[in-house]
Amino acid sequence: MSLETPGLHHVTAIAGDPQRTVDFYVGTLGLRLVKRTVNHDDPGTYHLYFGDEEGTPGTNITFFPWTDEGRPGQFGAGQTKTTTYRIPPGSVDYWRDRLESRDVAIEREQRFGETALRFTDPDGIGLELVAASGDSSATPWTDGPVPTDHQLRGFHGVTLAVGSVDATAAVLTDVLGYELEDEADDRRRYRSAAGGPGSIVDLVETDVGRGRMGVGTVHHVAFTVESVEQQAEWREAFADHGLSPTEVIDRKYFQSIYVREPGGILFEMATKGPGFAVDEDPAELGSELVLPDHLEDERERIEAQLPPFDDPTVDASD
Ligand code: ZN
Repeated sequence: MSLETPGLHHVTAIAGDPQRTVDFYVGTLGLRLVKRTVNHDDPGTYHLYFGDEEGTPGTNITFFPWTDEGRPGQFGAGQTKTTTYRIPPGSVDYWRDRLESRDVAIEREQRFGETALRFTDPDGIGLELVAASGDSSATPWTDGPVPTDHQLRGFHGVTLAVGSVDATAAVLTDVLGYELEDEADDRRRYRSAAGGPGSIVDLVETDVGRGRMGVGTVHHVAFTVESVEQQAEWREAFADHGLSPTEVIDRKYFQSIYVREPGGILFEMATKGPGFAVDEDPAELGSELVLPDHLEDERERIEAQLPPFDDPTVDASD
């Protein structure tokens, strides 16, 4: 049996000011801050995870906030253009009103028979909400600022921009088990054979040249791996395709391998578990800075470097 991924696990981007990021993703989009930790590869920077109530794989957008002094990124080939979340079909007007009332400029678009609301986050990262019926990968956040009936329901997909789609398309179809589903204008739609939420990857070509990673760009896109045992098979599958995957890296909440696809985008393959409750009570997710064990001795120094921020859903008077 060939390997399959059910679809997206998380998307990780580089933000500027962490307070602005938290205000937007929690306060405006109604995602829960499910983990407040540091970038394991750069402990002077936060790693903030936003998702559904439990941080279920397939719902999480995560950020390295470099602060506003960080180098600005530039969109271009080899980058994720848009991260798309699903909303219930009856929630399009709710989200149009909510975003407009917060001065978020939106464009409405029909594509492949779907209604999409397009906008960017405060750092310029491309986002979309697509009205989608059917399964949801998300657990509603009952204490969130958005009524559960209207909440984001996990990923729909991502749009990847590359100079030329063929090599990236071959990785999708020959390694990741995606199939070409539709084509319109300059967009090719692929869906993972397993289907379900978060199973779409759209490819578009861009002629603006190579992008530059920095504030306001996506760092990598992660796909879901069913088990730790499968990681070895995924490594082999990428290597057989002529690519160079990393060793398996322990990210505490999941086990990962990384591979740069030929179009320039960094792919990650992340296991479903063990998940975010491994070092925090599920009711308390994201409320405190948690560190990987090997950095615990340096907590005081790390905390002193990180800019403080408030979660808008937590009453400061508590
Ligand atoms: Zn990742």
